[in-house]
Amino acid sequence: MPCEILLNSSELRSVSGGQNRRDGRMAHMETIGFIGLGRMGRPMASNLCRKGFRVIAYDVNPTAVAELAALQARPAQDVAEVAASSTAIVTMLPDPKTVDSVVLGPDGVLSHAASGSLIMDMSTIDPKTTDRLAARAADKGVAFVDAPVGRLASHADKGESLFMVGAAPQDFVRVKPMLEAMGNTIFHCGPAGSGTRTKLVNNYLAISSCQMNAEALALSQRLGLDLSTTLDVLYGTTAFNGQLKINWPGKVLKDDTSPGFTIDLAHKDLSLVMDAANEARVPMPMAAAAREAFSFARASGSGGKDFSAMVDVLCQSAGIAKPRLR
Ligand code: NAD
Repeated sequence: MPCEILLNSSELRSVSGGQNRRDGRMAHMETIGFIGLGRMGRPMASNLCRKGFRVIAYDVNPTAVAELAALQARPAQDVAEVAASSTAIVTMLPDPKTVDSVVLGPDGVLSHAASGSLIMDMSTIDPKTTDRLAARAADKGVAFVDAPVGRLASHADKGESLFMVGAAPQDFVRVKPMLEAMGNTIFHCGPAGSGTRTKLVNNYLAISSCQMNAEALALSQRLGLDLSTTLDVLYGTTAFNGQLKINWPGKVLKDDTSPGFTIDLAHKDLSLVMDAANEARVPMPMAAAAREAFSFARASGSGGKDFSAMVDVLCQSAGIAKPRLR
């Protein structure tokens, strides 16, 4: 059943690309197929529903689909049903291999998407896969946009994500209303492929900073310093970084290591960064060191924890008390 929710006036102002119906509700032109309803996809698809888009939802996990159906999204049985019933198909999947099989596989999105429809991949994947998806979509007369997501899962919950969009100008105009329903900051980075490339640059810094933070706080603990005072000093100087200031106080430092963004996904992203850097002949020794710190964390059984738990992994291996804010 399509999602039909009465929008308040500020929502009406913020959501463009629809038509005001006689009953005052917004009727959006696109029917959005949403594939991948995990920690990020669930709130993103939920926000589309809440903002009045017709959403057809699919995930290999039936519980995730049922949660979206409770918000009036239409549950789908498989990828083929999503692709055949939608004008725009969004993918929010873990890694390049999964995106490749869901979009290009034998019964995948492109086998069933109509000419004139649009695919928007919002997963974090590698540029080569993104370029292949864009080329294969173009062969079928399907538009392709890459729009990876910045900021934390908690921002996605609140509809406050940032998007890095790679798209032809007319495709950017087409996806903008959907992005405005899921986030509040949108950058058009260039043609298809630019979003994925920008995301790797962003995630190199955001993820590597976690290992630097881990080492700094482990040292602070070992030296017997007061954690709150140390943080106040770091927040007051150029040592400041977004992970330490925005993510960590509400996660690991508060004894919450549930993901968020897993150490496994962070390791995947640093691997994508290094592959892209090797391909482009850009030496990135810090990325290699950070990636291997994440390899160690996975090997020691912490892959499913929030990436702020990197400090616990280091403290545990060095016999240092985990830093916690009282
Ligand atoms: P997640 O593991 O929580 O969710 C992935 C979802 O995809 C799961 O629900 C899983 O069941 C589903 N899935 C897997 N294979 C599938 C298939 N073949 N068909 C249909 N569904 C399938 O991951 P996440 O945290 O939501 O991240 C998704 C993507 O977004 C990743 O590329 C990640 O790097 C990126 N990302 C994550 C965050 C974050 O903070 N979690 C932030 C920005 C970007």
